[in-house]
Amino acid sequence: MTDNIQAIRGMHDILPEHSGRWQGVEQAIRRVLPAYGYQEIRLPIVEKTELFKRSIGEVTDIVEKEMYTFEDRNGDSLTLRPEGTAGCLRACLEHGLLHYPSHRLWYLGPMFRHERPQKGRYRQFHQMGVEAYGMAGPDIDAELILLSRRLWKELGVEHKLELQLNTLGTLEERHRYREELVEYFRGHYEKLDEDSQRRLEGNPLRILDSKNPDLYELIAAAPVLHDYLGEESRAHFDGLKRALDDAGLNYSLNPRLVRGLDYYSKTVFEWVTTELGAQGTVCAGGRYDGLIAQLGGKASHAVGFALGMERLIDLIDQPERYDALQTPHAYFIKVGEEAERAGALLAERLRDALPGLRLAVNCGGGNFKAQFKRADRSGAPIALILGGDEARDQLIGVKRLREEVPQQTLKQSELISYLQSLI
Ligand code: ATP
Ligand code: MG
Repeated sequence: MTDNIQAIRGMHDILPEHSGRWQGVEQAIRRVLPAYGYQEIRLPIVEKTELFKRSIGEVTDIVEKEMYTFEDRNGDSLTLRPEGTAGCLRACLEHGLLHYPSHRLWYLGPMFRHERPQKGRYRQFHQMGVEAYGMAGPDIDAELILLSRRLWKELGVEHKLELQLNTLGTLEERHRYREELVEYFRGHYEKLDEDSQRRLEGNPLRILDSKNPDLYELIAAAPVLHDYLGEESRAHFDGLKRALDDAGLNYSLNPRLVRGLDYYSKTVFEWVTTELGAQGTVCAGGRYDGLIAQLGGKASHAVGFALGMERLIDLIDQPERYDALQTPHAYFIKVGEEAERAGALLAERLRDALPGLRLAVNCGGGNFKAQFKRADRSGAPIALILGGDEARDQLIGVKRLREEVPQQTLKQSELISYLQSLI
């Protein structure tokens, strides 16, 4: 006996009993994004490794230790995408989309990171990403936040999420700050853990983001980026806060919020929850004006966010209500040769007349008892029953499978209006 092959650790199947909740969230996304004029873009899952190194930055968790990188048969180094921003921008530059003044895009799909699997943290996970190009002002930053709030409302999770907000200033402001920060941490070098010591040269802002409690005090006393912001960065941040205030959206300011990726500038934000344990960030994003030029484009503006689908789905109350969207409305039992032929045609007529009807027709024969068992297992609330007699007399049996009521017999011509009430 050979062992059964199993899925890769941290990469999960989404079984039919739970795929309805994914569809429910996806449908909400497909309603909300177009309401703000965003269009879907579909992108490859594999890109050249160089793309992620250049955009995400060499000294980041993702590039240092999380990427699935391999050599393909031509000897090129390729990587399963760990996030979507880089690929989206690559596609837009490649196809000249950024020649137009502005673009609003979204995408949805699997991402891959070699992390330690735990609740809310997987090696294949799914993100919905939103990117807006070519718009400089804080109004578009606010729009992204408002559209995410609308999504939370649609899914009934808005009371579980809090918006945290910060600004990272321009690259120049950040460089000045960075020098001060490096000097400060150098003065306390022996107190830093190994990770932070390594980051000190490459990406010192990441030290602020450290989850090591031994460093909290040191980090709390570090210089604050806000003190290094220029006039324009302050005005941008004030504009964003004003727009959120106008919209009645509460937020808390978190000066330690720096995000893991190198490419952010000015606005950064996270939607966080206390309901998912350690993996509390459901959605994160910000402005990354510098990245377009960094990838070879003409300098422009960009802002976006990514939300973790698994974490969002975990936050939904009674996700079963979405799972039920996949259960058939009715299971069609047909026994005997005459009923089988007539039943197949009747089922097609029902589908013609009732778009949206989820009708599972018994295939593969079986006696009444066997077919009733399958009907029961399908989860459908009713069974339609066609035997030889019914087929001959243009009748159909209807049995409620989840209630104690006797079976009814209807004329086939009455069936459409009967089923209408179920959809
Ligand atoms: P974290 O601090 O949790 O590692 P991150 O800063 O690496 O998050 P981003 O790269 O900003 O996360 O990704 C945006 C969102 O994608 C996260 O807020 C989270 O909801 C989700 N996400 C990121 N990594 C994973 C993962 N390994 N498994 C599941 N969801 C993830
Ligand atoms: Mg991470």
